[in-house]
Amino acid sequence: MSTIKRQFIAAARCPACQAVDRIRRCHETVSGREWIECVACAYQEERPTAPASPTPERGGEGVAVTVALRTPASRQATT
Ligand SMILES: [Zn+2]
Repeated sequence: MSTIKRQFIAAARCPACQAVDRIRRCHETVSGREWIECVACAYQEERPTAPASPTPERGGEGVAVTVALRTPASRQATT
């Protein structure tokens, strides 16, 4: 039996469907496995369990958090 903790990542954007605030971090407490998943399109990505994750909180390096996506259904993945 494994316990998975899930936590939404604020302002994170899904690389697959570009949805914002739909990415959540999953952490399996038993194995220590960590990954992220998108609840909008079921995209998943493995996350290396780094001891210190770099948080680009301070400005100065062109941290572009574009919040210009207001129409989520306007652009589907181009296949
Ligand atoms: Zn997605």
